[in-house]
Amino acid sequence: MVNDNIQIKNNKIKLPKIGWIKLKYHRPHKGKILNVTISKTNTGKYYVSLCCETPNIEKLQRLNTTLGIDVGIKSFCVTSNGEIIDNPKFLQKYYKKLLKAQRRLSSKTKGSKNFYKARIKLAKVHERITNCRLDFLHKLSSRLISENQVICLENLKVKNMLKNSTLSKLISDVSWSKFRQLLEYKAKWYGRIVSIIDTYYPSSQFCSNCGFKNEEVKNLNIRAWECPNCKTKHHRDINSAINIKRVGLVQSDFKPVEIVGYEVFESGSSYF
Ligand SMILES: [Zn+2]
Repeated sequence: MVNDNIQIKNNKIKLPKIGWIKLKYHRPHKGKILNVTISKTNTGKYYVSLCCETPNIEKLQRLNTTLGIDVGIKSFCVTSNGEIIDNPKFLQKYYKKLLKAQRRLSSKTKGSKNFYKARIKLAKVHERITNCRLDFLHKLSSRLISENQVICLENLKVKNMLKNSTLSKLISDVSWSKFRQLLEYKAKWYGRIVSIIDTYYPSSQFCSNCGFKNEEVKNLNIRAWECPNCKTKHHRDINSAINIKRVGLVQSDFKPVEIVGYEVFESGSSYF
């Protein structure tokens, strides 16, 4: 509960039993502080997380835009609008540093001074990667949620069965579940829908134009293909994202609204 045990003033925080200590305040908190959690990272930094009671978040104005997202093989993800979102360059750089730091640690004698030094170095790289990745995922999820009423994704457990060990795939795998989590809670806050396709659906094999199933596309090396039936030329992942959107929309209870001027009217009477 709120009491005087926890206070923040002039870049200092007052904690129960500890008293006032210096604080690097990242951004002002909103609402009443309910409790604090103190955690220590592997690199020896202390973090204070504030749990606050905030007033209800205002829902965003409803839109008719919908989006399908596919996990990219060479990029982080690809959207049904044709947008290819790459893993941030710095993340790739840090991953290379990570591999180097791991190798260095394994070459040291366990328990030696250099071993502990290498371990802290490795932990620091890990920390930087976690922070950068989270920042990237927050920005991307916020943008996609603000632009779309419905976002359709595949359940990645199915996708994980595809073996692909490129660096970007490695990064995507770790980030994907976090990304989904961010999209889901932001959707709840802002009145958007995240539709997850749960059953196995071979999204990459169907032609998004005519529905023809081309099993040859199972081969991950095929990046682009032409539909033997309707001759549409496809980018592998964009085609897949369009299919994900179509199936995801059927599974969701989304109904478009008619937007006239600034007022929003329901096109179906049973939406609410
Ligand atoms: Zn076709």
